[in-house]
Amino acid sequence: MVYSMNAPQTQSQIEAVARLLAQAGQVVALTGAGISVESGIPAFRGSQGLWEKYDPMEFASIEAFIADPQRVWGMLLELDHLVRSARPNPAHEALARLERAGRLSGVVTQNIDGLHQAAGSRFVVEFHGSGRRLVCLSCGRQVRRGEVLMEVLPPRCPCGGVVKPDVVFFGEPIPEREAMTAFAMASSCQVMLVVGTSAVVAPASHLPVLAKQAGAKVVEINLEPTGLSRHVSDYVFHESASAVLPRLAQAVEDLLGGQD
Ligand SMILES: [Zn+2]
Repeated sequence: MVYSMNAPQTQSQIEAVARLLAQAGQVVALTGAGISVESGIPAFRGSQGLWEKYDPMEFASIEAFIADPQRVWGMLLELDHLVRSARPNPAHEALARLERAGRLSGVVTQNIDGLHQAAGSRFVVEFHGSGRRLVCLSCGRQVRRGEVLMEVLPPRCPCGGVVKPDVVFFGEPIPEREAMTAFAMASSCQVMLVVGTSAVVAPASHLPVLAKQAGAKVVEINLEPTGLSRHVSDYVFHESASAVLPRLAQAVEDLLGGQD
């Protein structure tokens, strides 16, 4: 049964989900681009700015990168500027609050912007890697920014190999350790919060379904209806995450405070 969230019912539904979070053994959040839009990072799917200028399949596919790393790095640096100037928004901060309150085991994110960590979340599984790290395509070593010259593109590892951001490009597999951790979290949680992701890109898309099959309640916070809304989600908020999550965190804190 789906509890659709129209504005007048929102507060009672927030309280219902807060009770769920206050009682659940393990709560996991799955986040995607939607949570960072209000931090100024345009969603991958959609028609804003950068993606109109650059075809994601062109600058974010491993084939394109290998074919012309200099050109792709030129595009990546423009994205890099956007990510570096972005700050966490109230949705990121609310998830960090839930973790501090002992009510969130961890965040599995498809984002590469590092905003969960910047907000104070400690257990973050970066399903698609991190834009803050670089990796050498020749020796496989993780390379720190300070070790490479960004003035000459493409930047190179001390071994001479071309480095790329340590993020999952189209055509590359999800890092094995992150994938295993995320799947273990999904199959052992009692509540999964799905925030700002339509969960259409595999294998991240399997996580809410896996959680549901293992008996978890799925709470979805997405502006628009998604493929999960009707059949997978137990609670659906079609509102911005930065509006819903702080209220949810507050309601959970109120409940926990009342137990003392
Ligand atoms: Zn190297």
